[in-house]
Amino acid sequence: MTTHVNLCFHGIGRPGPEREPGESSYWIGTDLFHRVLDLVADDPRVRLSFDDGNASDVEVALPALVERGLHATFFVLAGRLDDPRSLDADGVRLLQAHGMTVGTHGMDHRPWRGMDPATATRELDRARTDLAAVTGRPVEHAALPLGRYDRVLLSRLRARGYAGVHTSDRAWAREGAWLQPRFSLRATDTLEDLRHDVLRPPALPRRLRRELVGGLKRLR
Ligand SMILES: [Zn+2]
Repeated sequence: MTTHVNLCFHGIGRPGPEREPGESSYWIGTDLFHRVLDLVADDPRVRLSFDDGNASDVEVALPALVERGLHATFFVLAGRLDDPRSLDADGVRLLQAHGMTVGTHGMDHRPWRGMDPATATRELDRARTDLAAVTGRPVEHAALPLGRYDRVLLSRLRARGYAGVHTSDRAWAREGAWLQPRFSLRATDTLEDLRHDVLRPPALPRRLRRELVGGLKRLR
């Protein structure tokens, strides 16, 4: 049975030049971000996470979360710790010091499907140990870059003992499940979209309709 909904944020505020095509469509405005947090702050069904380790994680998200007494998981890119637009090691430690969980999003923000063994080691092992060296704690959770996965990848992650793996499958999640689907907020989303399309428990026909609409939206 589905029990909760995972919301995933990327950048908050104004995106800079894109580091990869489509990046800016996952940035949402600061105002919408605050309104989303206000909407879900008292909703026990909602869990929050942040991907890509943008600097807005500490500049915008952290104070807003702390102010509302909220907790979130931050999936950081180990390969961007020296990028001025991203979290650095101190930023990661600051998140942790405020009770946030730090997970891995890999090293280079590349899809994890079809990796050769050396790339898999870099993305799934080295990024994880680099982040653990920053936080001083084991990194137990991973979020899939660009949401892509297949059975081979999932068995690689299982073999490495990850406690949880977070996708971008836009579905409700089950408590304790190893695979956690998430809804990513997008630049074009509104509070009404969130209220009506995401936060209502899924009824099967509506969910199928949503997936069709989502498919059409992506073709526009
Ligand atoms: Zn990402």
